[in-house]
Amino acid sequence: MTRRTRRARQVGRTRPSPIPTGPRLQHLDGSAWAFDVRCITGDCSAASGPMESASGTDGWAVRHGATTGHGAFQRTVTDLASLTLHK
Ligand SMILES: [Zn+2]
Repeated sequence: MTRRTRRARQVGRTRPSPIPTGPRLQHLDGSAWAFDVRCITGDCSAASGPMESASGTDGWAVRHGATTGHGAFQRTVTDLASLTLHK
């Protein structure tokens, strides 16, 4: 067996990476995401309140900014998560 042949056989024996089986925290199936935006311009703290989409909170921020001239916002996205300890 030549050196080149032995190397080719070793490459062919590589195994796929094992699937991770440790604890996992992931989005809870069937639950909704919640989007929220709050104005942080000066002393203003007006907030959209929870909405079901980013387009909803973006629209709120655009309307708020157009009427007040405010232009700095904090956006928050939250979800429910499910912990799996063992698979
Ligand atoms: Zn504002």
